[in-house]
Amino acid sequence: MSARAGVVYLVGAGPGDPGLMTARSLELIASADAIYHDRLIPPGALAGARDDAELVYVGKAPPDVAVEKDPYGHGSTGPSVPQGEINERLVAAARAGKSVVRLKGGDPFVFGRGGEEGEALREAGIEFEVVPGVTAGVAASAYAGIPVTHRDDASAVAFVTGHEDPEKPETALDWEALAGFPGTLVFYMGVKRLGGNAAALIAAGRDADEPAAAVERGTMEGQRTVVATLGTLADAVEREGIGAPALIVVGPVVARREALAWLERRPLHGKRVVVTRARAQASGLTATLRDLGAEVVELPAIRIEPRIESEEVRRAVGRIGEYALVCITSPNGAHLLFEALGAAGLDARALGGKTEKKQVGRVRSSATTEAEGGADPRSESGTLSGTTAAEGRDRADTTIAAIGPGTAQALSEHGIAADIVPERFVAEALAEALQRVEVAGSKALVARAAEARDVLPEALRERGADVDVVALYETVRGEPGDAAVEAARSADYVTFTSSSTVRNLTEALGDRFPSGARIVSIGPVTSEAARDAGLDVHVEAERHDIDGLVAALVADAAEE
Ligand code: SAH
Repeated sequence: MSARAGVVYLVGAGPGDPGLMTARSLELIASADAIYHDRLIPPGALAGARDDAELVYVGKAPPDVAVEKDPYGHGSTGPSVPQGEINERLVAAARAGKSVVRLKGGDPFVFGRGGEEGEALREAGIEFEVVPGVTAGVAASAYAGIPVTHRDDASAVAFVTGHEDPEKPETALDWEALAGFPGTLVFYMGVKRLGGNAAALIAAGRDADEPAAAVERGTMEGQRTVVATLGTLADAVEREGIGAPALIVVGPVVARREALAWLERRPLHGKRVVVTRARAQASGLTATLRDLGAEVVELPAIRIEPRIESEEVRRAVGRIGEYALVCITSPNGAHLLFEALGAAGLDARALGGKTEKKQVGRVRSSATTEAEGGADPRSESGTLSGTTAAEGRDRADTTIAAIGPGTAQALSEHGIAADIVPERFVAEALAEALQRVEVAGSKALVARAAEARDVLPEALRERGADVDVVALYETVRGEPGDAAVEAARSADYVTFTSSSTVRNLTEALGDRFPSGARIVSIGPVTSEAARDAGLDVHVEAERHDIDGLVAALVADAAEE
């Protein structure tokens, strides 16, 4: 259910991995009028917010932590906002009739001050709901291969703050009780005071030799785990330069990591991989690489500029039902074709003897009116209905050809099952697959990128088709940001999925190109463009699609 007006939702965003956000949190983020968020929320957590949603950063960043603008450019950032003011703002927004999401890292009620916010809301008479999140104490431990409880080792777990509210006059931690606690101790906010806290625990009787771990950036890219003992962890953490956010786990369960560590075993763990596809297309490849453990840097070499407002596109779309064959040569093309159809008031039905079907639709609605005693039964639409229905039955539907499975998938998202999908995703293969379609004397539409090759239209024309070619979009050079370019410098791999990404990226980066990285190409055409640009191609995919590229990269990483 979407967020209700006048209600504040205290929502946990989980520990950092976007995949650990709850379904409920995403639903509320997608529907809220206003989102008040912290610094420690997963990357892209706000990507699903409404375009007109008010996104307000109210985090309490410690002065030594640089606040990063979220990568989607959605959220605003600023200096730390006092808790009292956050409470007031939540109350004011709800009173103004907005649906409000208060988005916090982890769980809102675990060291998240969600309790205080709830109390302030109740006091102000504002309705609120709480959406729990996956808390870091459990999640960071799990990603480090440390079960916080275990039948043999720990029947209890305590969540402890290692750094109390500095405004509190005296410490509330009972070190004796914690030292005697029969189970795992998990310290939040415990890095800065680790030395002192560990000493206090040992002085109160906890075994200095008990296994202990620090988990930095748990569940996020670049998670690190340091294992030592309670007595030696502070030194180890110092030596390894572990910084916030990090969690301290103390207890025999830490030793289970030896058998249970899994994160580090993923095929691309510790590899930094550059994705050069256009931002709009990159997400699939990026997600796949991340799932395999890679640290991904997106350097979009190209950007897609839609061209669906052009006269040629409008004309083609207006008579799309006349084409016996429609060829779509990329997922972008598929989506943009449907955007263009939508702009013309049409939908998927337009692609199958469409004009007629549309009219049948209109006739149906007028028939309803008729029954209600409205329209004249001899109206023009009534006459059309007879002809149309008959013609519609005789007429073969438009044949839809997609250049590959990605494009077919994009079409299926719009309710179209492509009739022809060649196995190799190049224009030549599509032209060949189209041999089995009778095209002589019929109208064909090739809807594609402005700068595409002419192989397909020429092949169709040779076979006697009357071919219209329209450009649905143009690819232009992307301008990767400086931070991403810097991060890419230490990349292990740079992936290229088309010759245009090679050309555009090498031109955009010049001598800032990550020279130490191994180059992975999706296929021979791309490899050739890479060599032309002066690059060595280390890995070429055997199957020329995204899965093939990933498989080749994984195989190469396994050899290293
Ligand atoms: N409400 C949050 C905790 C906020 S307190 C929750 O439920 O997780 C902030 C502390 O949480 C940090 O100082 C750190 O100790 C811990 N923390 C949060 N995210 C973390 C992460 N991804 N990895 C390790 N520790 C994390």
